[in-house]
Amino acid sequence: MPELPEVTALAAFLTEHALGSRIAAVNVASLNVLTTYDPPPTALVGRVVTGAGRYGKFLDLVTGPGSETDPPEDLHLIVHLARAGWLRWSDSISATPPKMGGPIALRVRFSGADSMRGGFDITEAGTKKSVAAAIVRDPKSVPGVARLGPDALTLDRDSLAAILKGQTGRLKNVITNQTVIAGIGNAYSDEILHTARLSPFATAGKLTALELDRLATAMSSVLESAIDRSVGAEAARLKGEKRTGLRVHARTGLPCPVCGDVIAEVSFADRSFQYCPTCQTGGRHLADRRMSRLVK
Ligand SMILES: [Zn+2]
Repeated sequence: MPELPEVTALAAFLTEHALGSRIAAVNVASLNVLTTYDPPPTALVGRVVTGAGRYGKFLDLVTGPGSETDPPEDLHLIVHLARAGWLRWSDSISATPPKMGGPIALRVRFSGADSMRGGFDITEAGTKKSVAAAIVRDPKSVPGVARLGPDALTLDRDSLAAILKGQTGRLKNVITNQTVIAGIGNAYSDEILHTARLSPFATAGKLTALELDRLATAMSSVLESAIDRSVGAEAARLKGEKRTGLRVHARTGLPCPVCGDVIAEVSFADRSFQYCPTCQTGGRHLADRRMSRLVK
């Protein structure tokens, strides 16, 4: 699932490549991708891209009026890439609308001089379709955006401490809860907790002062270096999410790059996460529900 670093890189790419471009067409090629119907997709046609940004893991393409007859207020195309979605840019994108029900959920094509006929597809791999797009005047009118907690990149040590205070949940769950902290998902929470040498099952509200120091430092360093890598890789030119530089996430059974211990995993029905027992849990293995069910 694209998280804060990848979505930041996609927004940066759009800012660099689409700013000032006029929208020539918006093709909706999936029955369920659009969660709004007013304004319709055609309302974006003729408008000009004035920016691109991010709310948590939501991508925001901002458009301004393309002519005097367009409504003067901004219109936003807000996209949530969910588990298997991606934004793929092409310098010359086909004017033929994509097939309904295929891997492309939405296409935005820009007009302009020959060199400016770029555009992007919102793609979704797999059969479970959960990518969502909304066309809105105010990003906050998207419920998922309205619910977001403060952005992970804006948190310093003291604001992080204030947010975690009183949280009785497990640290891993709390820092991936978008209403508590926006932007961090399964992959980067694994990386942050490993860098901070904290157990995913630690009680979030009971971290010591030193542990909070480590968590705050890890959160910004892990996210910022991931943004650098993702921007450097020109994320939007890739076919899908491609991460480099991960130390524990999705590396079950491989050696921890810090201590050499074997990376362990906790599995749930539809996902799993990884950690290093030596670095994070004092050598203990966390209960794996799937395993304990098998044992019973
Ligand atoms: Zn380790």
